[in-house]
Amino acid sequence: MDLSSEEYARHAHRLADWIAAYLRDVGDYDVLPSVHPGAIRAQLPKSPPAAAESLDDIIADIDRIVMPGATHWNHPGFLAYFANTASVPGILGEMITAALNLNGMLWRTSPVATELEQVVTDWLRQLFGMGEGWFGMITDTASVSTMYALAAARERDPALGIRQRGMAGRGDLPRLRVYCSEHAHSSVDKAAMTLGLGLENVVHVASDDAFRLRPEMLTRAIHADRAQGFRPMAVVATAGTTSMTSVDPIEEIAAICQRESLWLHVDAAYGGSALAVPEMRPLFSGLGRADSLVVNPHKWLFTPMDCSVLFTRQPKVLRRAFSLVPEYLTTTEGDDALNYMDYGLQLGRRFRALKLWMVVRAFGADGIAERIRAHCALAQRFAELVRAEGEGWSVCAPVPFSTVCFRHVPAGETDEDEIASHNATIMARVNESGEVFISHTKLGEQYVLRVAIGNLRTTSATLDRAWELLRQAAH
Ligand code: PLP
Repeated sequence: MDLSSEEYARHAHRLADWIAAYLRDVGDYDVLPSVHPGAIRAQLPKSPPAAAESLDDIIADIDRIVMPGATHWNHPGFLAYFANTASVPGILGEMITAALNLNGMLWRTSPVATELEQVVTDWLRQLFGMGEGWFGMITDTASVSTMYALAAARERDPALGIRQRGMAGRGDLPRLRVYCSEHAHSSVDKAAMTLGLGLENVVHVASDDAFRLRPEMLTRAIHADRAQGFRPMAVVATAGTTSMTSVDPIEEIAAICQRESLWLHVDAAYGGSALAVPEMRPLFSGLGRADSLVVNPHKWLFTPMDCSVLFTRQPKVLRRAFSLVPEYLTTTEGDDALNYMDYGLQLGRRFRALKLWMVVRAFGADGIAERIRAHCALAQRFAELVRAEGEGWSVCAPVPFSTVCFRHVPAGETDEDEIASHNATIMARVNESGEVFISHTKLGEQYVLRVAIGNLRTTSATLDRAWELLRQAAH
């Protein structure tokens, strides 16, 4: 037997208050916990309890063990990686998702899970100003969405017979090649590992001074591969690269893909949310010609982890790549009912559409655009602070969205290793403060610091404080 609904209610009310207080006070925590590796495990019993424990005892351990080991992604000072937000409507959506425990593998196993996913992904399509003809589905992460897109690209030519015969030990199969910029996310390489394409067959094309894939280099790479008997398969363009948020020239890449008959996947895991801002859409020009696109609402669309949306204009191909229906999963609804299990690897599917639907409704298209605009304005303001300072500080890449790459070079210093270690020290000092958490990356040989704004609680005061800490740490 489960615990009683009365017991649920008693604890849920308490936890609702606990969450409200957490959201109110999250800025008072240190963003990064001060624990060393293994410290949390050491506090936990090695084996599960033989006898039942009370929820009071278990919940007490949230404050005692869980909180001291948490990095606070919902903290206004979380400026590392791609900062995100578990917004109030998203959190409430997660509560209902857990309670309903719907499994959207088939339409029949929960019609609302399927149909809400169809509707909310189509809402996003409209919110993003994309034309008709896109099929949307929700996955857990962009890494999986991109892997699915490349699985579809691989299946586009059924004559290759990969679905049936696989790739191993086949002398008749040319090497299938995938192209992306040198700044593309590692999930492209991981997809190639997973799909049996092999890391060697991901071609990292050189980029220009603004870190954008160079179309003429792409054409050259494709032609060189064809000359060697390789088979170009897909291009992944990135709109918002992980390190510096550059946007590849999608329009020109799309023209190449069309000419060369290649699948074009656009990785807009982070940057894609900016499509909600009409005046930012020109950045993504050419997107309508892509075969697939990934955007992560769990990055910059205020939706709690995890929620990634894969769009494709080729759902039949995606379905061919993944559909396999054993007898026990056959249903009688026919074509009127979509079974999402046919479009991906997993059978069981979480009801992620609910939280996304609640976020979109609670903020509205205008509210979402306003929030993203505000984040971009904060990033511009922060970049301006860095530029205006001079004294060795510089912004190291264009700032098309809400992420700023910058660094400090001590007077007269030219050695890149020294500059890197100086900036690593700045980062460590700033992060030790507990008030903010920033991260770093490399732009070519340059080690740079990164401030990424994606949390709804981050304000100009947060960034002023971050800047003060950075300046202090540099001296
Ligand atoms: N693509 C880009 C451009 C990213 O920046 C990231 C993560 O930061 C990913 C893909 C991977 O996202 P996920 O964690 O959802 O797999």
